[in-house]
Amino acid sequence: MEYKQDRNFAEHLDALDPLASYRDKFYIPKTPSGQDSIYFCGQSLGLQPVTVQDYIEQVLHGWRTLGFKGHFCGNSPWIFYSESLKPKMAGIVGARESEVVIMNTLTVNLHLMMVSFYQPTPHKYKILVESQIFPSDRYAIKSQIQFHGYDPTTALLEIQPREGETCIRTEDIENLLDKEGASIALVLLGGVNYLTGQFFEIPKIAERARFHECIVGLDLGHAVGNVPLALHDWNIDFAVWCNYKYMNAGPGAIAACFVHDKYAESFDLPRFAGWWGGNVKTRFLMGPDFLPTPAASGWQVSNPDILSLAALAASLEIFETAGMERLRTKSKQLNGYLEFLLDRISSKRISLITPRDPEQRGCQLSFSVKDSDISVLEQLNEHGVFCDWREPDVIRVAPVPLFNRYTEVFDFVALLNDILATH
Ligand SMILES: *Cc1c(COP(=O)(O)O)cnc(C)c1O
Repeated sequence: MEYKQDRNFAEHLDALDPLASYRDKFYIPKTPSGQDSIYFCGQSLGLQPVTVQDYIEQVLHGWRTLGFKGHFCGNSPWIFYSESLKPKMAGIVGARESEVVIMNTLTVNLHLMMVSFYQPTPHKYKILVESQIFPSDRYAIKSQIQFHGYDPTTALLEIQPREGETCIRTEDIENLLDKEGASIALVLLGGVNYLTGQFFEIPKIAERARFHECIVGLDLGHAVGNVPLALHDWNIDFAVWCNYKYMNAGPGAIAACFVHDKYAESFDLPRFAGWWGGNVKTRFLMGPDFLPTPAASGWQVSNPDILSLAALAASLEIFETAGMERLRTKSKQLNGYLEFLLDRISSKRISLITPRDPEQRGCQLSFSVKDSDISVLEQLNEHGVFCDWREPDVIRVAPVPLFNRYTEVFDFVALLNDILATH
């Protein structure tokens, strides 16, 4: 699409947007003067769907009126609640229903997956990650390496962008796999890197990793609900994600996991057990021995938080009617437009660190602002614009197709232009 630099053009795109009405399905935080703020932080905490309250009230009502019977009675018996959300969740990540389980939080799930899928041996013990991995993931991974008695300084391999570049080239990952693959037990990448917004070429990387008999795990925290995923077809071994970013299920929302169905009957894999992962046929007999239920559900440990699942149910409903394909189409156009306007800003201090190829990024554009500090962000905030700052000088902006508009992108860049002119 050819973009234009005047605000009329943005208004025109908003008028033509087939997803425009979805904005009304969310509460948009207000500025002190009562206007809608420009909320570009969906990669950090998604906004509240208007229907969440009803979904949660239904659970509260069941609890109030039925007590423990709510597990089995009412409109959405709690015992099946998590299972009932699987088809929609699986659709978003390109998985079979049986390959998805909704449970815990992201980092907890990462640990549980590594218990089963990181089995280092003296010859094959390394874990390959991207250099700008989400810090919590690095802590979790290092602690797993140490748990197995290995040394993170040799066992943790970090692939870097080339000198002078900001993103990691697929060919560099492939070459490193060819060189070190024999000693790599696990390749663990963020589907979309949290800092640069780079969407990795997962199928290519996964294929090369498999060639060298490495397990492939993905952290989809910044990818789920953002970019198209096909976890089953890409033959990914496992994946974890949270549901409070692009998935809009609320702060600390219940997270999820993917385990490929090729492991559905791998009952001999080491795993940390709990009653909820037990075979559904015998779970409530509560015998002395743990018999996992087949497929991803067998990794559950505890009974899930139904209030959190209710918020997720409200959000999944919206995703289903909007459809990932339409969301992706709008997302590409929204951030293509943002890129176009940022390229034309008068200050020459801005440089994009997100890939320019639309296929290698999601909603988020990140850019560094030379010779600046966090006061740039503070000034944006004062004008009712919310985005994210990472030291030393990176601004992360995520126009989200469900609730953001083209005019917001226009107004944001105009404001940034003004701020940088005096900064
Ligand atoms: C958001 C995010 C996390 C946060 O982990 P929690 O367990 O939800 O606190 C970790 N890793 C990645 C890649 C993320 O995007």
